[in-house]
Amino acid sequence: MFRKVLIANRGEIAVRISQTLQQMGVTAVAVYSEPDRGALHVASADEAYPLDGSTSAETYLRIDKIIDVARRHGVDAIHPGFGFLSENEDFAQTCQDAGITFVGPSPAVIRDMGDKIIAKEKFAAAGVPVVPGATFSAVEEPRTSVRAAIDTVRIRAAEIGYPILVKAAAGGGGKGMRVVKSETELGDAIDSARREAGAAFGDPRVFIEKYISRPRHIEFQIFGDAHGNVVHLFERECSIQRRHQKIVEESPSTALSADLRARMGEAAVRAAKAIGYTNAGTVEFILDESGAFYFLEVNTRLQVEHPVTEMVVGHDLVRAQLLVAAGDRMPFEQDQLRQSGHAIECRIYAENPGANFVPSTGRIQQYAAPASPGIRVDSGVRAGSDVTVHYDPMLAKLIAWAQSREAAIDRMAWALRRFVLLGVTTNIEFLHDVVTHPAHRAGDLHTHFLDEHAELLTRNPSTPPPPAAFAAAALAARIASGGRPATASPGAPLESMSCPWNTHGAWRAF
Ligand code: ADP
Ligand code: ADP
Ligand code: MG
Repeated sequence: MFRKVLIANRGEIAVRISQTLQQMGVTAVAVYSEPDRGALHVASADEAYPLDGSTSAETYLRIDKIIDVARRHGVDAIHPGFGFLSENEDFAQTCQDAGITFVGPSPAVIRDMGDKIIAKEKFAAAGVPVVPGATFSAVEEPRTSVRAAIDTVRIRAAEIGYPILVKAAAGGGGKGMRVVKSETELGDAIDSARREAGAAFGDPRVFIEKYISRPRHIEFQIFGDAHGNVVHLFERECSIQRRHQKIVEESPSTALSADLRARMGEAAVRAAKAIGYTNAGTVEFILDESGAFYFLEVNTRLQVEHPVTEMVVGHDLVRAQLLVAAGDRMPFEQDQLRQSGHAIECRIYAENPGANFVPSTGRIQQYAAPASPGIRVDSGVRAGSDVTVHYDPMLAKLIAWAQSREAAIDRMAWALRRFVLLGVTTNIEFLHDVVTHPAHRAGDLHTHFLDEHAELLTRNPSTPPPPAAFAAAALAARIASGGRPATASPGAPLESMSCPWNTHGAWRAF
């Protein structure tokens, strides 16, 4: 096993990786930007070193600075977490060249899977169902004019049928996608998608796919080791999304029969074997209303929502990642893996669901996470943490496990009501309203859930009154902040503070 592992990340995932490293007797090394000097992930690690600068581009995305810290401090492996450099083949290669183990798949696999066109081609060849579509190939074939290429795509789009989705080959994080409803919009959509993809990802290539209506997002956790073993650890359903980005995830999915689960799991393992996958990864599928499923993409890293898998299969995926990276066999075999009970995760963001999910910034004045059997909190913040404009606004993840889905929802609803996070606007209440919504309780999920239930974005009048404890917490925060509300404008009534059950007015007004 490694002696010292550097975590090239920040926030809750960096804290979570430190915990497993320490449990394994490995020294956890954090890196941090200037605004993160006092961050929880720095305090949680055994050693921490600065990366001069504030923005991601100056710090957590700087391969040279991170490798330099690793070299100077005798680090023998780097865990990239998710986001930042986690799916960057140059980073994986540079680690390898420096004699430092990169905790993840090989640079070649990261490169191929980072290109959604190559991934689709490889998996289609391996017999994995892919969404019907076409590649827009003007860039690979420079002699083809953009107009001629669009004409070719237009013919294919007419065969597939509208609406069509234009996607960036290098896309990620829900970015670089646009829906095209009719042929007249296609040319302009491709032109602008190419411009946008070029600016956002440095790669203008786009492709088209059939736009599946009312689909579910179902993904499979995969794992491979260097000894040729590949397994899946079942599914996660991530259909509750905003801007094509997940906010609530669960396992098992209410949409999968035992037979469909077995077929999708087999397809995920076949995909992983076709590319010689090692370490943790996720094969994402889209499931249509008829029960047909299609491959979307592979994420070559640990996923934000990995805790729901950990809760239902009972394995620490970061521990497994480290074992596999060190050359060991995976700590599980397919026929030993079972789904036990039900887990749901809510992503807690500093953002305002009532104002188009605009991110919120500020200092966290009060922080108290709920605790109970079956509740897990992966947090990157504490009281006093600053939430800045520099990074992703995800603050923490709340995970609830119970024997049944119904009990897991009840537990989640309870925990959301008791999560005190004052000082920034959060989506906590909104998450409560989502998970307790009758359609969510019924398991009637699809990726347009929030569009279809737009009332969730406004106050739900049936919301129960605030428990006395939270009025007290809000009052304490008000006193701590000099008698002024933590997030509302000076002089605003107590009810408008950002505290569960006291913020309906606040987050709608902000
Ligand atoms: P997951 O599939 O694990 O749910 P997301 O796609 O939501 O993950 O992305 C995980 C994190 O990585 C988020 O913080 C997201 O903003 C970031 N991210 C993912 N892909 C990109 C990308 N191509 N560019 C910038 N950030 C990205
Ligand atoms: P990213 O790399 O940004 O995660 P994905 O290809 O995984 O991109 O797609 C993200 C989300 O966009 C999916 O979870 C789904 O909600 C939606 N989506 C992607 N492809 C399609 C499609 N062909 N039809 C309908 N929705 C899609
Ligand atoms: Mg995806």
